[in-house]
Amino acid sequence: MRSIDEYRHIVGDKIISEIIQLARNLHGLRILHINSTYYGGGVAEMLYSLIPLLNDVGVATDWRILRGTPEFFTITKKFHNAVQGDPINLTDVKKALYLQNNQDFASYCKIDADCVIIHDPQPLPLIRFYKREQPWIWRCHVDLSHPNQQLWDYLRGFILRYDRVIVSDTKYMKEDLPVPHSIIHPIIDPLSSKNREISQALIAKTLKKHGVPTDKPIITQISRFDKWKDPANVIEMYKLVKAAFDCRLVLCGSMATDDPEGIMIYEKIVKLANNEIASKNVILLTVEDNILVNALQRVSAVVIQKSIREGFGLTVTEALWKETPVVASNIGGIPLQMVDGETGYLIDPYDIKTGAARIIALLQNPGEAKRLGANGRELVRKKFLITRHLVDDLKLLNELFG
Ligand code: UDP
Repeated sequence: MRSIDEYRHIVGDKIISEIIQLARNLHGLRILHINSTYYGGGVAEMLYSLIPLLNDVGVATDWRILRGTPEFFTITKKFHNAVQGDPINLTDVKKALYLQNNQDFASYCKIDADCVIIHDPQPLPLIRFYKREQPWIWRCHVDLSHPNQQLWDYLRGFILRYDRVIVSDTKYMKEDLPVPHSIIHPIIDPLSSKNREISQALIAKTLKKHGVPTDKPIITQISRFDKWKDPANVIEMYKLVKAAFDCRLVLCGSMATDDPEGIMIYEKIVKLANNEIASKNVILLTVEDNILVNALQRVSAVVIQKSIREGFGLTVTEALWKETPVVASNIGGIPLQMVDGETGYLIDPYDIKTGAARIIALLQNPGEAKRLGANGRELVRKKFLITRHLVDDLKLLNELFG
């Protein structure tokens, strides 16, 4: 099991000592996290790393997954889209299925914890089906700045029952929600298989195994096949880049179990980029493989994150940690992680011409790309490593229990 001591050489002793001190009052406290997938997406990624470290410092932390039927995940994906601004036909049937799935889960999942932390909208109604004997926290990872009002009114009814709401940025704080809010910026784990140092030999072997040639520069977007990640326009942007500078585009997106739209969007992209895929200029990958993500983020000349909504966008921080410059949309949580012109470039997500020009500039000037990448790593070291999240979590728990 991973231990906090392993991070000393990356973050220094001061923060390790702060974590140990903050955990001291909380020894024996039992925390339960519930979300809806073990892998695919940023929430699972963070929980996978954070939970062992909380246990290591003495806070007994457990993680359960909300089991859901395919119909349930189809509905919650519609909810996810509507929370980020899409229209929705919010029928009684959808609401009933949403509630029923949560109620079923509650009937076989006993909660015996001192604090329950629920992630995102899928398990949000669980609070209705338990006798509340402890604080319940709702942690929202999505972009809440333009929710569909009808859905938001419905979800607010559940959120009101919570003791605390955690969002990823101040811009997601909701004035119409009279529940205390906290802000915790997401993080990456520098020692996870996705982010740890790997050898050139392993990078080469991994790329070969997945059929990614390295004979020309690679630009990459690592994202679920999701409309908000805008893969279709990444392809259009790539076509503009390719006309000026020969390079290859990799779109890497594993299929999360709670995201039924992934396969449809993937198929749309296959049609759209048919010729480029045939000529191996565009490579689509759908495997779940952390070393592959690690290798791609290291080998790429530029990492792209052309989202049109983005709660945070862990992929930006992941790439910067590997000293790879990023060209990403100036929306959601992305500008928090980037200094325009210093760690890469922030772009208007609807202006693919300028986005392409930024990528071309980096491809043409590897010296500048290297400078931006190095700045990126330092920014991540200061603000977005897992140890900072542990401090935030422990401070919040001290506030509730200390
Ligand atoms: N991810 C992955 N494999 C993939 C696509 C994504 O491991 O094929 C990971 C990615 O590296 C990151 C997370 O899933 O850790 C995505 O988090 P982000 O915040 O960028 O977006 P989300 O999917 O949560 O909207």
